[in-house]
Amino acid sequence: MRDLLPEAAAAEAWVIETHGRVAGLFGYLPIAPPIVEYAELFERGVGTGTDIVEKEMYAFDDRGGRRLALRPEGTAGVLRAARTGGLCDDGSAARLFYSGPMFRYDRPQAGRYRQFSQVGAEYLGETSPHADAEIIELGFQVIRAIGIEDAHVELNSLGSAAERQDYRNRLREFYAAHVNELCADCQRRLDDNPLRLLDCKKDAELASHAPLLSSAWSSESRDYFEAVCSSLSDANISFRHNERLVRGLDYYAHTAFEYWHSSLGGAQNALGGGGRYDGLAEVLGLPPTGGVGYALGVERLLMVTADTHGAPGGRGAEVVVCSVSTAEGSAALALARRIRSAGIAVEADASRRKLDGKLRSAHRHQARIAVIVGESEVATTTAVVRNLGTREQRTVPWDELGATIAHELHQEKSL
Ligand code: AMP
Repeated sequence: MRDLLPEAAAAEAWVIETHGRVAGLFGYLPIAPPIVEYAELFERGVGTGTDIVEKEMYAFDDRGGRRLALRPEGTAGVLRAARTGGLCDDGSAARLFYSGPMFRYDRPQAGRYRQFSQVGAEYLGETSPHADAEIIELGFQVIRAIGIEDAHVELNSLGSAAERQDYRNRLREFYAAHVNELCADCQRRLDDNPLRLLDCKKDAELASHAPLLSSAWSSESRDYFEAVCSSLSDANISFRHNERLVRGLDYYAHTAFEYWHSSLGGAQNALGGGGRYDGLAEVLGLPPTGGVGYALGVERLLMVTADTHGAPGGRGAEVVVCSVSTAEGSAALALARRIRSAGIAVEADASRRKLDGKLRSAHRHQARIAVIVGESEVATTTAVVRNLGTREQRTVPWDELGATIAHELHQEKSL
């Protein structure tokens, strides 16, 4: 778990804000379930057979003896909150977005942390392929708004639950003939979750000869998949059908996707992913609710984008008011208050340091203007406004400080 110092914290806040802005353009509303839930929500919602629940979940008993967990992902909590809060009760759909920290006891490495942030969206109560396409497009537009132009979507369909059962049996038959060649993890998974063998890195060569998921699709599933593809083409989103992309849980249906970027190394390093989870609500004991959603990793997005578009990144205020000696301390604070009320970011430096030192550190923190107030300025209710770039300075009455500084900053910006 990392500390986010000002530059990193500002960049993450900017991603979260950008996500909310783009989601708002698609009509999505914010939702914020708690970070701590009953562990059972994730055991059921993510699945006891998954690495996330088996090996990575921060679960603990609270003082009341309840088994709780820090959320490892967002979908189960959003669905629970939406349905227990009465959304979708009248049969209408709900478009929701969220952001915040997630926790997984993952093996720490580049781009993989035990506390990380996700931004995500869920479209609940709608089961048409257009909902899947809308969700994929929204995630894609968020990635673009972050300044990443060359991501693409890896897309697959898991078919219906019955088709997946049929496919599972075929997979078991295929792998049964190769049991001795499989890695230990895959041997263990073969019985209860053979789909997961398809994305094993160690057994990739064998997986390339396995039967294809699409061979088990019904014509309805094929039509559904094609409808999603055609919607994505209309939206100008580059995508690729990836037969190996799976989500091995029973309540997933049809669409599964990931956003990939070439600078990240493939499946394990996607910018984000998602899919349709029509059976999830029932698994959680909620009224049946179709849904589709995505989650994007905030740190991953920031690894790929070079430009954080003016996130204030660790810089201090643009203006610093410096007192010449401690006697003018309260005058410096009062002037800062006055400038701030004109909507300008300003710090007061009423410390005991010498004026030279104050000006040097203002310059270092990339402030653009220093306002200097000494004994004679207090006596004449004026202050010296100094441009730290050009070093020009002039004396200005207190009443005119806000307007003068606003003008000066504006002139610099338009240069
Ligand atoms: P998932 O919920 O596993 O589909 O993850 C969605 C996205 O969250 C991934 O594509 C990553 O961008 C991000 N992510 C997942 N686990 C981690 C982690 N341990 N550290 C940082 N980002 C992560």
